[in-house]
Amino acid sequence: MPGGNRYLLKTDAAIENSFLLTRYYTSCSPTILMMEMNSPSYEGACLCGGVKLEVSGQPGNAGFCHCESCRLWHAAPINAWALWKNEYVKIVQGEDLLDGFDTGTSHRFWCRRCGSGILNRKPNGRTVVYAAILAKSGYVHEAICHIHCQESVFEVQVGLPKYQDLPSKWGGSGDLVAQ
Ligand SMILES: [Zn+2]
Ligand SMILES: [Zn+2]
Repeated sequence: MPGGNRYLLKTDAAIENSFLLTRYYTSCSPTILMMEMNSPSYEGACLCGGVKLEVSGQPGNAGFCHCESCRLWHAAPINAWALWKNEYVKIVQGEDLLDGFDTGTSHRFWCRRCGSGILNRKPNGRTVVYAAILAKSGYVHEAICHIHCQESVFEVQVGLPKYQDLPSKWGGSGDLVAQ
């Protein structure tokens, strides 16, 4: 699916299943924990490649956030987030390059050399990994919801032309991806 959309939106039934799964995992037996340890892992890296992380298994939850804190910190209209328990997120290279900023509810870390956002430690033992940095390793962002929409300032406009690179008058091929 060239140029295809990797961001999938789950149905209500899938959301309910996801909540049931979360409840199931909170009463984890050792067998379930072993299954989690054997589940796939994904790797991510910052723009300069100095910081690398690895996450194990699938996130407990994933979605899109419209809050002001995410928007200003990422300088982006929306943030794609995925949430893991702290123990399933490992910095495997470049920990010395990480710098952090604590808002009180989010402790956000980035690479000091290139500025890429890497992760966000939450007070409840969970870590938000910025989903975009995992995409190259096969991670598919199965979002279950949008959050903090009352703080949203940019409407996501659907139906606009989607160029493979750039419009021809801006020096690109002008080719569109199928919608
Ligand atoms: Zn970097
Ligand atoms: Zn946010």
